[in-house]
Amino acid sequence: MTTKWAVALAILTAACGKSQENGAVLKVQLHSGPQAGLSTVSHAKAIAAQILASAGVRVDWMTGKNRPGAVAVADPAVAADMLEIMLDEGVTTGESGLDVMGYALPFQSKGVRVHVFMGRIRASYGTYSDVVLGHVLAHEIGHVLEGVARHSSSGVLKAQFSVQDLRCMAIHPVVFAPEDVSMIQAHFPALAAAGTVPDGGSH
Ligand SMILES: [Zn+2]
Repeated sequence: MTTKWAVALAILTAACGKSQENGAVLKVQLHSGPQAGLSTVSHAKAIAAQILASAGVRVDWMTGKNRPGAVAVADPAVAADMLEIMLDEGVTTGESGLDVMGYALPFQSKGVRVHVFMGRIRASYGTYSDVVLGHVLAHEIGHVLEGVARHSSSGVLKAQFSVQDLRCMAIHPVVFAPEDVSMIQAHFPALAAAGTVPDGGSH
């Protein structure tokens, strides 16, 4: 836990709200090496899916290839409508904090659009890595779904998370703020087509 985390906003602004089950489908292919750990990745995917459900997005996890090491290479066989995510193991040091655990390329239309520094997450959070990974995945996917580079003052799209946020994550996933739910629904075309978008946030 670094100072940056410790001095982050102490007021818990992200409620431990429930998520919603229905919504448009987002196909996601997650590439990870064997170091990531099957149960860690599996639990993280479940948490990310629960958070994205709070924005009316249902994740359909496609089978990704194992890609050992830190080199992120897009799979040419992956369709453009699928979101490709790479868990990079190579970066193990650096600042702590959700937004430096990965990055998104929201203006890119295909290829790997989300990179997550799995090695850094493991080094910083140890046995808590699955919970943090789940939130990092939801955070970065949120950037892609909104199609802009911005952060919110609350919810999973905050730039920095407090210790209270981390405690909250352990109990229940930190979901999207209502403003992010609106932006995701406006930008993600399949949401409108599906017609099953939940009204407002889920806090
Ligand atoms: Zn961010």
